[in-house]
Amino acid sequence: TLSDRLADTFKNLRGKGRLSEADIDATAREIRIALLEADVALPVVKEFVGAVKDRARGEEVSGALNPAQQIIKIVNEELVTILGGETRRLRYAKTGPTVIMLAGLQGAGKTTLAAKLALWLKEQGKAPMLVAADLQRPNAVKQLQVNGERVGVTVFAPEPGNGVGDPVSVARASIEQAKRTLHDVVIVDTAGRLGIDAELMKQASDIRDAVDPDEVLFVVDAMIGQDAVTTAQSFLEGVGYDGVVLTKLDGDARGGAALSIASITGKPVMFASNGEKMTDFDLFHPDRMASRILDMGDVMTLIEQAEKSFDSEQAMKAAQKLSGQGGEFTLDDFLEQMQQVRKLGSMSKIMGMLPGMGQFREQLENFDEREIDRIQAIIQSMTPAERANPKMIDGSRRARIAKGSGRQVSDVNHLVDRFFEARKMMMQMARGGGIPGMPGMPG
Ligand code: GDP
Ligand code: MG
Repeated sequence: TLSDRLADTFKNLRGKGRLSEADIDATAREIRIALLEADVALPVVKEFVGAVKDRARGEEVSGALNPAQQIIKIVNEELVTILGGETRRLRYAKTGPTVIMLAGLQGAGKTTLAAKLALWLKEQGKAPMLVAADLQRPNAVKQLQVNGERVGVTVFAPEPGNGVGDPVSVARASIEQAKRTLHDVVIVDTAGRLGIDAELMKQASDIRDAVDPDEVLFVVDAMIGQDAVTTAQSFLEGVGYDGVVLTKLDGDARGGAALSIASITGKPVMFASNGEKMTDFDLFHPDRMASRILDMGDVMTLIEQAEKSFDSEQAMKAAQKLSGQGGEFTLDDFLEQMQQVRKLGSMSKIMGMLPGMGQFREQLENFDEREIDRIQAIIQSMTPAERANPKMIDGSRRARIAKGSGRQVSDVNHLVDRFFEARKMMMQMARGGGIPGMPGMPG
């Protein structure tokens, strides 16, 4: 991940006053690779990297963060700004129904999104109506009706006898209908083609002129990758839009399309769609997308996982022991803790988590798993009495334990020292001193 690569770049950089030009260039290279891997369009990558370099040049090396963290912070801030800063909210009409029109390529997810958005609005206390203005594909109206039924929202569609046959008149008639039936939001689903197409653009802009939408949303598949820029630009010129909706974020796309589109068009990404279920939909969160693009994982996820991994029952037991209710903290407890740390360590590797946690992350990643096996071997060569009361482990016992575990006496000494250190630390924690570091971590 980018944070790993930057950490490597800055291995030898500590306590310098400013980042050197060579450091900045090396960093720029890593950021460039990360963005290209996330499928961000090349011109966008160039501009972005340039902006980050400028900012990096101006900054003092911070005391609190290491240079890699500092750069990541800059990159993250720039990404969030381009992606729209705070999530932009829908603008509702002051009078009459709010009209939201959807535009985008066929298969982008418009019809699915129309129903998801309707459900979301309904949950906010709105009374939405869906409008089937895609008469291009034979099944399009039916699809919207089925989705509308799933979310319990009325669908306005052309019917034999209601006098509307073409998409523009359907859309126009739907607004009148919404006023009569007191629906306060009208969502107009439109047709798409597989490629950009003049006739289709014309139809979409005719619909737009007929319904005078409060919001036109450009719906785009997050998997579109490098094509994002041309498609987004064509729709901007052909129809125009106020905001972007990214769909299929449940796929494995890193979401570079979001950055490309937001950067080239200046339009905010407003919603994110991430699955086939009607509830797989939410406001777009630029900060979350930034860490997805950088493949930095999610700190919150890590913390939650870590809490789960540290079995709460075990923590209770340890706490009881430390407070004197459950006996002393023993070498068995110590070993158990080390095994928990191993779980955390491999988890952080597997899931690419722990961004920005500096020392802690480094410690976990440099954690030698074989070290735990060695410690385990040593502890298992002790008698139960020794494990429960490590103070009794004198010189001759150490020699026996070393022999039994195939290690040196110095290894046993080292382990016993670390145990006492860890125990001291645990006592401090139990007294409310916070977490000074992982007990038992090799330093
Ligand atoms: P439209 O042509 O723009 O109206 O696109 P549709 O709404 O018909 O969606 C095209 C296909 O993508 C359908 O099979 C949808 O079920 C699927 N789809 C839409 N949104 C999502 C999403 O967020 N995640 C996934 N996995 N599939 C989606
Ligand atoms: Mg459709």
